[in-house]
Amino acid sequence: MLPRSVNIFGERWKVVVKKDIGENCLGLCSYSEKTLYIKKQSEQDMLQTYLHELFHAMCGRTSMHQAPDWHLSLEEIVADKFATVLVENGVTFKKTKKR
Ligand SMILES: [Zn+2]
Repeated sequence: MLPRSVNIFGERWKVVVKKDIGENCLGLCSYSEKTLYIKKQSEQDMLQTYLHELFHAMCGRTSMHQAPDWHLSLEEIVADKFATVLVENGVTFKKTKKR
């Protein structure tokens, strides 16, 4: 079960699970809405997507995008690997109230 919100360096972001968030899209990190959108999938896949989007949010919150040699394609790879290694190691979250 994903948390309903997440603290990202002192900012509370929403976590929203939706049936459809756009074609070929499993997750979306909206900096303007401070929301992580996760497509409804299996629990394991939603967790992987959530961690991937969380990494993007972390990059945004720490202004990593402003580094002169920052590449979005590299960010995608690192986001995936970050999510995979956490899922592999059984990351879990505290139980939150029902959605
Ligand atoms: Zn991504």
